[in-house]
Amino acid sequence: MELYVHIPYCRQKCRYCDFASYAGREATMARYVEAVLSEAASLPCDTWLTTAFLGGGTPSLLPPALLERLLQGLQAQYSFTPGMEFTSEANPGTLTEDWLRAATGSGVNRLSMGMQAFQPELLRTLGRIHTHDQVVDSVRMARRAGIGNLSLDLMFGLPGQTPAMWRETLYAALALEPQHLSCYGLIPEEGTPLKIDLDAGRLSLPDEDDERRMYDDTLDILARHGFVQYEISNFALPGYACQHNIGYWRQAPYIGLGASAASMQPRERDELRTSNPPDIMAYIDMTERADWAQREQTTVSAKDARFETLMLGLRMTEGVCESAFEQMHGVALQMLCGKVLHGFKARGLLDHQDGWWRLTRRGMDVQNAILVELLEEMEKDCPDD
Ligand code: SF4
Repeated sequence: MELYVHIPYCRQKCRYCDFASYAGREATMARYVEAVLSEAASLPCDTWLTTAFLGGGTPSLLPPALLERLLQGLQAQYSFTPGMEFTSEANPGTLTEDWLRAATGSGVNRLSMGMQAFQPELLRTLGRIHTHDQVVDSVRMARRAGIGNLSLDLMFGLPGQTPAMWRETLYAALALEPQHLSCYGLIPEEGTPLKIDLDAGRLSLPDEDDERRMYDDTLDILARHGFVQYEISNFALPGYACQHNIGYWRQAPYIGLGASAASMQPRERDELRTSNPPDIMAYIDMTERADWAQREQTTVSAKDARFETLMLGLRMTEGVCESAFEQMHGVALQMLCGKVLHGFKARGLLDHQDGWWRLTRRGMDVQNAILVELLEEMEKDCPDD
């Protein structure tokens, strides 16, 4: 079982962000931590946790005493496997030595930090609160605190970004000697200030060729520096792939605590998912009243679960295992969409070896189109449904 805890506080809202995160709500933090611990008490777990992840938002904005209260409360509630991966996200400009001491003292052994870009003008376009110097300081501080497993988040395909600027960002990140890098292409989300500026023509995105060049450069440069790509956007030195995310892509069950967090409990055939209200006060109110009916419940149909396995599996470079798929869903992948899979293989977009399907390099570029076609095929009736 994996554990995810959402910390929905940020110092300032980034201009591209549509996550459940809020600026200027620090006054609610103490109540929020108690709310998370009450929710944890309502979701007991009789197996060992395999990974834990504190995400956000900006967990490094929690005052150290509250962070300790939260983490120690969680450890009293759940069985943490000794030495398991325990990640916290953190943002430069908010990280302090006291916070790091509280985090590492309570079991955090991996930090995922938002660097995003190297150039000050791009950091401004994104509305980030930090400079690159602050990224460097934060990484040094984390190392001094004993964090040996550090990940940096970077973004490409940004307005005003050229392939040369992206390479400069990659090299600046590599100079900080991280063990893991997440490199995400920008997806402008509806309603964000960045999307509004793009729609109004005040900003423009790099063209498709430049964006593809940035992704190609990512693969080349990181491979030359010993990083192994294990997912479309994720790269790690050997032994440092993020176990929490791998669990998610392999559809391991998880408990999610906090505003907007979701939990997934496997049932005999369909899966039951619950998700919490995204608003901080609505979440606190739910936990203070123990009104768990406010959690939104969704049953994932067998058909949707099958497509999800394929979609998440194809994100990973190891791909989708036919026998594991059949064991999980009781139906052969080849029977559901074998013709389409082999069609993509003939076009050089999918690779099929030893019972595993995976995207080729060319397939990664058109992943969405591949998934749409597979979805259409899998939507057709299955005799088992
Ligand atoms: S720091 Fe992260 S969660 Fe917070 S506003 Fe920026 S992108 Fe969103």
